[in-house]
Amino acid sequence: MGKYREYLFNTALIATGGLVFAFALYHYGLGIDFRLFLILLLFAIILDNLGIMYTDIKLSLSPSVGIAAFLIFGTVGAATLMVTSVMFDTIVMRRKIKNGFLNGAMFALSYLPAGWLYEFMGGKIGEISIAQVKYILVYVIVSFLINNFILYYALKVQGKILFKEYWNESVLLELGTYVLMVPAAMLLAYVYFKHSLMFFVLSLTPLVFIAYVFRMVRDLVKANKRLNAIYEMVKMINSKLELDQILDTIVEVISQVVAVSAAAIYLTDSNGIATLVKAVGGKGKEGFRESYFKGEGLIGKVISSNKIVAIKNLKEDRSLDREKIFANYGSLIAAPLRSSGVPIGCLLILHVETNAFDDDSVRIIEIIVDQASVAITNAKKYYEVTRKSITDPLTKTYNRRYFNDALMENIMRADENNEPVSLIMFDLDNFKQINDTYGHLIGDEVLKEVARRIKNNVRSDDIVARFGGEEFAVILPKLTAEQAYMIAERIRTEVSSKPIKTEKGDIYITITGGVADYPSKADSAEKLVSHADRALYAGGKSKGRNKIAIYEV
Ligand code: GH3
Ligand code: MG
Ligand code: MG
Repeated sequence: MGKYREYLFNTALIATGGLVFAFALYHYGLGIDFRLFLILLLFAIILDNLGIMYTDIKLSLSPSVGIAAFLIFGTVGAATLMVTSVMFDTIVMRRKIKNGFLNGAMFALSYLPAGWLYEFMGGKIGEISIAQVKYILVYVIVSFLINNFILYYALKVQGKILFKEYWNESVLLELGTYVLMVPAAMLLAYVYFKHSLMFFVLSLTPLVFIAYVFRMVRDLVKANKRLNAIYEMVKMINSKLELDQILDTIVEVISQVVAVSAAAIYLTDSNGIATLVKAVGGKGKEGFRESYFKGEGLIGKVISSNKIVAIKNLKEDRSLDREKIFANYGSLIAAPLRSSGVPIGCLLILHVETNAFDDDSVRIIEIIVDQASVAITNAKKYYEVTRKSITDPLTKTYNRRYFNDALMENIMRADENNEPVSLIMFDLDNFKQINDTYGHLIGDEVLKEVARRIKNNVRSDDIVARFGGEEFAVILPKLTAEQAYMIAERIRTEVSSKPIKTEKGDIYITITGGVADYPSKADSAEKLVSHADRALYAGGKSKGRNKIAIYEV
């Protein structure tokens, strides 16, 4: 769908741009001095090359040459100059053929209508006067608006992440350059009309110098921005504990320092399997593979080798296994996340264009990733600590404290969704005898094994908790007492049918359970517990044990 829309948009843009341009040439003719045209083209190209990419917009002083050309040649000649120079810059200098045509069409569609509007409003070609300034501003602003409007949509259909503030910032910056470019253009045209061609060429050269200084300043601003991003990153490490927030911030920080079309973060588990934990851009999580085995695919390889990988041209790179996700992108960086030097995951950054990341970007990413890794490791430790505080150390089921919270929460959710929630209470039968016969340590082993069998027989959303000494409680969201009964029966069979292997031999044990549900058999959390417990004793223990009973109202 996305690809299709992009294709449609591109075709429509190039076709309309081409048609309008052809019409203009046919109807008005070019009518230019070719020697002058070539000189202006040369300067436009030089200025374009000294231009700087700011996010996805190229800032350059070449429009001043374009506006001068407009005042000298008129609408069609100036548009021809701008279209030729942008196509030369994109196709010949940057080797992006498709973008060259898109830019060409975009320029034809912005400079031609703007010029026609200028002439329609009474603006003059071939002479310079202060009275013309307002018309020149109309020409500049209209072409600028159409240009940016088309560019905005082009980026959007390409599925790029458009960060509003950067977009606004870059558009404003570009508009700002016109404060310089309009007077410069008027001066150039004036010189052309009043003086020799030689003098005209000489007066073009300061623009090149200004563009050069401009670029230097921009590089400084960029370096400063990157330093700031790293600083922000370090601050973030000290402020956030939740893994999810940290992952969000990492992606955000990175998109401030390099151009990002899509990004993903993978973290490894104890088996070395890398799992997708964060995905931004593209089609979100759908676009990325869910997991990679150790050493598998690009992600697996980056993690195993513990080395950052940057691919400048994905379209030509043959070192990758044909992974579907990469077909939509032009370049990538895949950086290992490490904790004390050991890989714990991988950050993947993608851009639709080839050559989107320079060596500087790779270095910066490496620094950020190292800082990010510290934050991720801390978040994991924090998670471990909180997990420990809610886990029973012997059976590794939830403790009573967590059970209480979880039961309240599940009852609230049941109310919200108009669904039941069930509770099973289990108590081991004659467990005292086990302790008396085999000792407490063996008793512990039995408890552990029973807990394991209970956990193995419930869903991942169910909550198994140690309610007391040899009592377990299981919360089963969305199930009625009758459905929970079936599960309790399965657990009872599982516990009693197979002996538990211990160093003192096979031990047979049975278990008794009581089931109740909310809201049909209990109208509060307390009653749900007491009713399940009542069923356990009245329907189970008192009737010979090794039984499951549902609470009878
Ligand atoms: P029944 O429930 O079938 O009526 O008989 P029972 O023998 O299980 O009875 P009771 O509930 O009175 O006994 C529970 C026993 O569980 C008492 C206690 O020694 C033992 N127990 C409780 N917690 C632990 C534990 O953490 N480890 C061990 N080994 N034993 C425990
Ligand atoms: Mg018991
Ligand atoms: Mg008991």
